[in-house]
Amino acid sequence: MPSQAGGAWHGAQYIASLRDGREVWCDGRRVDVTSDPRFTPTLTALAGIHDLQHSPEHSGEMLFRSERSGRPVSLSYLAPGSREELDLKWRNSRRWIEASHGQLSRVPDFMANVVVGLYDFRSELAAVDPEFGHNAENYYHYCRENDLVLTHGLGDPQIDRSSTPVTRPEIGLRVVKQGEDGIVVRGAKQIATLAPYAHEVLIYLSPANYLREDPSFVCWFGAPIGTPGLRVVCRKPYADGAGGLGSRFDEQDAMLVFDDVFIPRSRVFLLQDAAVAARGFHELNKWSLYTGQLRFHHRLRTMLGVASLLAQAIGVDKFREVGNMLGELTSYVEVLRLGLASVDSESRRTPSGLLAPGSTAALDAVAGHFSARASAIIRQIGASGLVMQPSDADLASPELRDVLDLYMCGRDMGAQEKARLFRVAGDLVLDRFGMRQELYEEWNRGDPARVRAMLYAKYPDLEGCESQARGLVARTEQP
Ligand SMILES: Cc1cc2nc3c(=O)[nH]c(=O)nc-3n(C[C@H](O)[C@H](O)[C@H](O)COP(=O)(O)OP(=O)(O)OC[C@H]3O[C@@H](n4cnc5c(N)ncnc54)[C@H](O)[C@@H]3O)c2cc1C
Repeated sequence: MPSQAGGAWHGAQYIASLRDGREVWCDGRRVDVTSDPRFTPTLTALAGIHDLQHSPEHSGEMLFRSERSGRPVSLSYLAPGSREELDLKWRNSRRWIEASHGQLSRVPDFMANVVVGLYDFRSELAAVDPEFGHNAENYYHYCRENDLVLTHGLGDPQIDRSSTPVTRPEIGLRVVKQGEDGIVVRGAKQIATLAPYAHEVLIYLSPANYLREDPSFVCWFGAPIGTPGLRVVCRKPYADGAGGLGSRFDEQDAMLVFDDVFIPRSRVFLLQDAAVAARGFHELNKWSLYTGQLRFHHRLRTMLGVASLLAQAIGVDKFREVGNMLGELTSYVEVLRLGLASVDSESRRTPSGLLAPGSTAALDAVAGHFSARASAIIRQIGASGLVMQPSDADLASPELRDVLDLYMCGRDMGAQEKARLFRVAGDLVLDRFGMRQELYEEWNRGDPARVRAMLYAKYPDLEGCESQARGLVARTEQP
């Protein structure tokens, strides 16, 4: 565990810090993520961004000097108190997103912003128990000074959604022992993106869990991934050594299994109080949901660019139906840009005095639809070309090259360039990596049906809409 409070990591230090005895399982075997070739490409990408934050070109927009230690720390951990500080935060988020081409949805900037949310929520936690508030504040500084990379696991294992934890306790993570020095937790969490690359996991419940009848299931805490008894069980990796997007940007998703894991008191942020957990769940995510939408905007822009290049490559860009689809995709990019600007302009002060962006709920409610349509449009435009492209070995073959240049080129594009473009498109919308990204966009903000129902239930202008409708009804003459 990194403990020297050295401020923002350099890439090599970050990689070395993951050799902490963690128990990561992949395809039936325990693995070392710092040397296993299925993990190293993504680890290298993450390490590269850690290095970037120290580069003369970018350090000013990714780091700030800690007033506590005097060391440079990540702007991802800045708790913004002013408009200028919020702007600095978003610029830093954009650097993380651009450096990972919008393909790593859970760059460390995301969870650092959840920790800022935890810090912001500390007074409410302190009202439950002063120690919880104190712990949340200390944890924020600890993560910030050590530049910790976090994952979170909120959902429960998908065993039986129709049962309750009282009759079937294994469906939720729970406290099985509480002592003077800490708690012992048992259970599992499904799922935690980035877990094998993270230093810590932050648990702050699942939306379905906090209202259940047994308070032992309400537990918020932070734990190092290397904690004894914590197992990280990864899904099958996408890296196949072929160098596609799945090889370079597989951020991994894992099941976290807590086998009677001891959590010291100093790392416990909330116990038992379901009402505070319910409120806090939304409060903690204010900054991270915004950075999540910044990343989604960047990804949609890439998809528009790819769709446009595909259309030009095969000479269909001027056909009206294709223009219609490209225009639809452009409208999603623009709606998101305008939505992000509005949400930012509605930034308001939180009770703790920080400046937080407005609600992203409406953008969260449409993200899955936008993403699915973007993928469908790329598939519609690319059609058979998404599968029928020459491999690098085909292109290198002197016997084949002539026919490939003749029949597999594009309108104004050679066969090699066209193959590269279509392969990226295929990675984005066809293969396991692309399908997982689409699933992520649909589900990562929680069940989209719940997100939409909540948007309606909490819509502040609903009364205004209803009053307009009543006015119209009242003025409608009876026949
Ligand atoms: C790629 C990916 C990465 C993710 N990364 C993370 C992460 O890092 N951290 C994290 O905490 N979470 C993560 N999530 C999990 C995400 O929060 C969950 O997918 C989401 O909360 C839904 O839960 P579930 O997937 O278990 O679906 P389920 O809850 O099992 O739902 C399955 C189906 O049943 C329906 N359903 C379930 N319950 C009800 C009900 N009571 N009434 C009516 N219908 C119901 C759902 O609508 C859905 O159609 C990730 C998800 C994906 C796909």
